Amino acid sequence: MNLEDINKIKELLSTPQKIAIIPHKNPDGDAIGSTLGLWHYLKNAGHDATVVSPNDSPKFLKWMPGCDAILNFEKENSQAKNALSEATLIFTLDFNDFGRVGQMEQFLEDATAQFVMIDHHQAPSDYAVVTYSDVTMSSTCEMVYHFIDYLGDSDKVTPEMANCLYTGIMTDTGSFRFRSTTSKTHVVAGHLIDKGAKNSDINNAIYNTNSPSRLHLLGCALKNMVILDEYSTAYITLSQDELDLYKYKKGDTEGFVNYGLTLEGIKFAVIFIENREEGIIKISFRSQGNFSVNKFARTYFEGGGHDNAAGGKSDLSLKETAARFLSILPEFKNELVN
Ligand code: 5GP
Ligand code: MN
Repeated sequence: MNLEDINKIKELLSTPQKIAIIPHKNPDGDAIGSTLGLWHYLKNAGHDATVVSPNDSPKFLKWMPGCDAILNFEKENSQAKNALSEATLIFTLDFNDFGRVGQMEQFLEDATAQFVMIDHHQAPSDYAVVTYSDVTMSSTCEMVYHFIDYLGDSDKVTPEMANCLYTGIMTDTGSFRFRSTTSKTHVVAGHLIDKGAKNSDINNAIYNTNSPSRLHLLGCALKNMVILDEYSTAYITLSQDELDLYKYKKGDTEGFVNYGLTLEGIKFAVIFIENREEGIIKISFRSQGNFSVNKFARTYFEGGGHDNAAGGKSDLSLKETAARFLSILPEFKNELVN
């Protein structure tokens, strides 16, 4: 964040504000970790702050301190709408375009509040008075730590904040494995442990709460995996019938897409998941090396994200979506194989 933005934030927060903090739809560890981390900070600083999420959080994040206080726009609609219309300041975290909040989009468009964006995705939209956007950052949680530090308040990081922020750094870096993990990321994680983040407990709470049905669904996904050696690509499909058979719950498919990349020589991994209720196929893309899945998702599947991790969707059927994907692949043969 540059000095001008830091001063602008200091000015905006110099008197008590009514603040709404928004994660993207289908929030992940980084979205919930960053919004709750910032929520604790702003509340402790004397502001009237509320996290308003477009929809529910997955079960594996419900333990996070403050998660109970999140307003769910789908379930607590009128309270959520009030929080948005009454806010004097709205922080949008871990996304950079109003298209990422589903049904809440119109209410952000109509809000009279000033916006502050904190985000690490590519191609930010221009809606905020302060846009703190940095695509080199591992996670929005890492950025929220820097944000607090820029305001001179790193000594005010509480154990609650530390646990929230550590969680998002851990989940967005694949436990400090992805290329986005820098020495700075480790330094921030270290500070957070010093401030009370229980790193081993967090790991257990996030990764060791499998249900038998989720492991069976993973088995089904792995069985369905198609390996295309000629394109260094592996993709998985999961139909709604398969999800129903294994009692799919929100968050159950988190991380499935990464298994493709664990195959030797595979550089591009994809998962196509049918969502009959929304009438779409939700897609996750992952890559290793220079192949940009952000560009791929943006160009062909109405999505985006980062160079090595992106998402998108398709309105075709599951079979047609996979066929369309297969018809696009030859264009990228050189890029994928070399
Ligand atoms: P995931 O595949 O885990 O849902 O998402 C991977 C990354 O891509 C995340 O950073 C996520 O925020 C982003 N992403 C997922 N779906 C979409 C989408 O539909 N549009 C855009 N712009 N980004 C997405
Ligand atoms: Mn993130």
